[in-house]
Amino acid sequence: MNKKKTFFLKGAKIIDPVQDLEFFGNLLVRNGKIEQIGPDVIESEDIKVVDVSGLLVVPGLIDMHVHLREPGEEYKETIETGSMAAAAGGFTAIACMPNTNPPNDNSGITRFIKERARTSGKCKVLPVASITRGQKGQGLTEFGDLIDAGAVAFSDDGLPVSNPAVMRLALEYSLNFNTLIISHSEELALSADGAMNEGAVSTRLGLKGIPAAAEEIAVFRDIRLAELTGARIHIAHVSTAGSVEIIRQAKARGVRVTAETAPHYFSLTEKEVEGYNTLAKMNPPLRTERDRRAIIQGLQDGTLDAIATDHAPHSSLEKECEFQLAANGIIGLETSVAVGLETLVRQEGFTMAQLIRLMSSNPARILGISGGSLAPGMDADITVIDTEASFTPARDNLFSKSCNSPYLGRKFKGRPVLTILGGVPVFDKKGFF
Ligand SMILES: [Zn+2]
Repeated sequence: MNKKKTFFLKGAKIIDPVQDLEFFGNLLVRNGKIEQIGPDVIESEDIKVVDVSGLLVVPGLIDMHVHLREPGEEYKETIETGSMAAAAGGFTAIACMPNTNPPNDNSGITRFIKERARTSGKCKVLPVASITRGQKGQGLTEFGDLIDAGAVAFSDDGLPVSNPAVMRLALEYSLNFNTLIISHSEELALSADGAMNEGAVSTRLGLKGIPAAAEEIAVFRDIRLAELTGARIHIAHVSTAGSVEIIRQAKARGVRVTAETAPHYFSLTEKEVEGYNTLAKMNPPLRTERDRRAIIQGLQDGTLDAIATDHAPHSSLEKECEFQLAANGIIGLETSVAVGLETLVRQEGFTMAQLIRLMSSNPARILGISGGSLAPGMDADITVIDTEASFTPARDNLFSKSCNSPYLGRKFKGRPVLTILGGVPVFDKKGFF
């Protein structure tokens, strides 16, 4: 067991969206728990003082959509390296998707993931179990068993549940456990063999496109099924303007739907694919500027509840090849804060509190886990961000085992510099401890 720490964070700007707090002040951690926060909390002599003046102290970030690749593809990422990448990105909790090899469709694998994460000790790892056995889209998994083992939600992510009757059954079943179904919304009959967004750019490049409708039809279907069953549905990686509008209307009529998007969908467009750049290949694909604007609007007005990275490590073997053959997905854990600061805060005028709500408080609420706040009594899961630090992601400064990122070499301003998990510093860029 890690020894819990007692210390005093001094002179930071502290933001807690849940308590609606934003002030310059101090924070006292005792035995791994937050004991006091406020402008007037006073240090006592026997406690270690950590001077974080000029920096931002926020609740530990939570990424509800990550691929850790273990078991089965440890050459891309392991639970250990993924947890370290998460800590370096400011995350104290991540939810990992079940499409490993074998997939996480039984309690043995769920327990294995929890155990590996505990040994590495860098980040809370919350397994998402598969909805169907073997992710084959047919028979349901043992939800109760998987929840007992530590599963926090259910998804066949990587693949949709194509049969609507199976999805309906899964939603009905989820009600018995008050658990969450996460929808990877994709109509495979429309997206098959597609390599990028369908439109002018795909035509010019001679690549088969994936129409926005392939996502929107599936988003609408799963929302209607949630409405039919009264169950909760969470829409993963929203990428199109049409999906945002479908979710907005569903929320307005009271459907129990939440949704996430990823940093690449609000910062990049299909233009990145020009030159057949496989680092811009993902599923769903990067869309148009109009879609990007709609995603930002959705984040602004609360239609989209969360930012999740969809961290998807692949080796250079799977990316340095013909575009059509290249694997889908990019890593995102270590660039998410930088991209959020640049696009949402600096360009679009979001407040820091809004960004932290999208990256911590809302994911905690959706997953039904503790976290996302700095209220006294909570685990001291804390992220310290230097909004002025220069940061250029590169192969040699990322902790992930893979480096498939379209942001490599791009100059950013702002990054996490200290991540504290249960009072223990797990990432300490500047040697505070
Ligand atoms: Zn997915």
